[in-house]
Amino acid sequence: MATRQEAREAREAKLDELHQRLTGAVERLVSGPDWARALAFAARFRARSFSNTLLIWEQHQGAFEQGRVPEPFPSYVAGYKQWQALGRQVEKGQPGYQILAPVTGRFASANPADAESWRRLGKGEKPRAGEVVRSKMVGVRPAYVWDASQTTGDPIPEPPAPRLLEGESPAGLWDGLAAQIEERGFAVLRVPHEGLIHGANGMTDYTANTVAVRENMDRAAQVKTLAHELGHVLLHGHDQDEARQHRGIGEVEAESVALMVGAAHGMDTRSYTIPYVSTWAARVDGKDPVEVVKATGEQVRKTALAILDQLDTAQIGDGTPPGLERDTTRRAAPAHVRPVPAAEPAPSRRVASLPEPGARPVPVPAFEGRGL
Ligand SMILES: [Zn+2]
Repeated sequence: MATRQEAREAREAKLDELHQRLTGAVERLVSGPDWARALAFAARFRARSFSNTLLIWEQHQGAFEQGRVPEPFPSYVAGYKQWQALGRQVEKGQPGYQILAPVTGRFASANPADAESWRRLGKGEKPRAGEVVRSKMVGVRPAYVWDASQTTGDPIPEPPAPRLLEGESPAGLWDGLAAQIEERGFAVLRVPHEGLIHGANGMTDYTANTVAVRENMDRAAQVKTLAHELGHVLLHGHDQDEARQHRGIGEVEAESVALMVGAAHGMDTRSYTIPYVSTWAARVDGKDPVEVVKATGEQVRKTALAILDQLDTAQIGDGTPPGLERDTTRRAAPAHVRPVPAAEPAPSRRVASLPEPGARPVPVPAFEGRGL
């Protein structure tokens, strides 16, 4: 008979294996053709100034209120001709959003170091021999852009979006996770819908000391979200600057913990976790997403183990956790998936946390907020 210590070691080994599978799955997703197509597409959209981003948001919101666009938040935004170049046409009757485009002039000088020597070139005018030419912004002019939802044509490549789990929650899991959150001084709240928590599935608020989960999704999705928030409670703290800086890593960690806790209870969270983790890992500046996921392995395993140790739920004690296995027969609580509209964060958060709507590297998944 296995001793307690042996059982623990066996579980640790399984969690390690699970994390390796997650890393492999992220690697396959981010190196696959869908991801590459989505990145290449996103790269065609230029970054815009902060004020233009606000102009786009505001006008898109207005269009949404008038029923001209289906979603309250803009996705890809581009000019009329740029959409044509991407194989899409602006629909008739869709007025564009007015922004301020920079106007640049060409300047020439034979003595670039002398600021006085620069002269503006006329349209089509060529510099004289020996002159250097530079472009400089000389003003702004109104220009119009359209959101992708105001255009039709060639499909827009998107990587797979996270899909909410469907079905029941494993017996006792919600209560066990909630007890651990409450032990750390946080109140657990169930809120009727995502509108109350910035469009997220769940949110940890380190100021109010609350963890909120929306109720208008299946129990399996709710309990998976609660495990994600418990990951935040255990791993991430009040330091907002740090939290902002490491948002991507924090989300990777919290969701990986949720995957492990779910797997130990026979839940297959892949269809949500893999796109979610991949997307956030890809948003960590200057790092390869696969390396980001790998680097969190130790922390995630320790945290998942600590959570599982304290639960008195029926867990899968031996065999392979089904989390990242195909065709497993061990699904105690089958968690099927269905596509759902992505729960998007509220505009204020998006403006604060994203470079700008048209320039995001990959579409933002439905996310569990952190109450930043
Ligand atoms: Zn989160």
